[in-house]
Amino acid sequence: MSVKENIRACIAKIKGDRTNSFIEVFEERALAQSEKIDALLAAGDESLILAGAPVALKDNMVIKGETASCSSKILEGFVSPYDAEVVTRLEKAGAVIIGRTNMDEFAMGSSTETSAFGVTRNPLDLDRVPGGSSGGSAAAVAGGLVPYSLGSDTGGSIRQPASFCGICGMKPTYGAVSRYGLIAFASSLDQIGPFAKDMASIEKIFNVLAGKDDKDETSCEIDREILRKKKIVCGIPKEFSGSSPEVQELFNKAVKKLSAEFEIEDVSLPSTEYAVSIYYIIAPSEASSNLSRFDGIRYGFRAEAANLAETYFKTRGEGFGDEVKRRIMLGAFALSSGYYDAYYMKALKVRRLIKDEFDRAFQKADVIISPTSPRTAFKLGEITDPLSLYMQDVYTIPANMAGLPAVSIPCGKCDDGLPAGFQIMAPRKQDSFLIDTAKKIEEIFKGE
Ligand code: GLN
Repeated sequence: MSVKENIRACIAKIKGDRTNSFIEVFEERALAQSEKIDALLAAGDESLILAGAPVALKDNMVIKGETASCSSKILEGFVSPYDAEVVTRLEKAGAVIIGRTNMDEFAMGSSTETSAFGVTRNPLDLDRVPGGSSGGSAAAVAGGLVPYSLGSDTGGSIRQPASFCGICGMKPTYGAVSRYGLIAFASSLDQIGPFAKDMASIEKIFNVLAGKDDKDETSCEIDREILRKKKIVCGIPKEFSGSSPEVQELFNKAVKKLSAEFEIEDVSLPSTEYAVSIYYIIAPSEASSNLSRFDGIRYGFRAEAANLAETYFKTRGEGFGDEVKRRIMLGAFALSSGYYDAYYMKALKVRRLIKDEFDRAFQKADVIISPTSPRTAFKLGEITDPLSLYMQDVYTIPANMAGLPAVSIPCGKCDDGLPAGFQIMAPRKQDSFLIDTAKKIEEIFKGE
């Protein structure tokens, strides 16, 4: 089959999708790239790592000449004048960018229910959420529409949907993948990463994406060397408790299986209990600043108004959804004079504590393991209280706070028949070691 034929078949599958994973298919762009790759292959070029592979992007990464909306009304009609660095790297490696996927508005959420384009459903059970905020990207891979997709993870938005959909998802070391062209949510936490069905595929696409980019000053080279040890030590943080009984049971079984080949150690991350609280100071603070650029003048949607002030008010009032407004207000409050020291500065100090505690834990353990999420995929509309939704991220947020690489891999199904993810975290820049370890663990879980 030619690349073009394969891409045509892929597009047809996406058009028949019942999960609402995709917001848009880039048919023209995808077919043009297919022809290019077909020509290269016909000429005998076999150097392209992702030759002809369809890749779906979360709707917060920009592509030249295409719309990007963060699933928000406020970006309606915005067309990007440039490519995100991940787009450049993927296409150079021969990948075909097939379309943009649904997400929680501005990546704020854990269920993909706050999109202006409607909810995305979990392909394993259409009455359930796929997780979020990268729910469309996770559902697209889990539903077999594409072999690869990209998401972004600020507090868990790659790992938690991977867990809910029974696939692999990786949040790289902060800076390992360029954020150039990723529409910012919370810049000190945001990180782009891949979804795929197995770790070998994650490894393949991650190696295409990773590396220093001069257009992103926070980007860095990772350590490609892999720690070789007879027995890798897996640390279990005793503070990561509070999972539902079925998730805890599955995790315990998984650890038991590991114990034949890995050493299991208890470690302690005492500040874990503050992670969610400080996340909801730091992330909204950065978001309130980042999202101030959407004013009705520079990008996308503009409301009808009589004057400039009214243009700002009405555009932001009509363009942003409730959750985004809630975060902007929270952040603006935490940053305002008089509260800055009490909330924002204090949160930064606790963030530092979390990082230091990880450093100490990594003196005892090579990787740290936990369930990815305290529970399995919930029903659409089941959780409406924002605080309950926020609490879903207790296990994933700490890695963002410390800038660590982390993956979620499937470890079987719970008694309720739903998959739950197994999270593995590694020291900063040890992404290659993390992937290598996850591949070994995946091998042990196989047959589940
Ligand atoms: N669920 C978290 C939030 O709502 C994390 C989102 C993310 O990682 N983008 O902010």
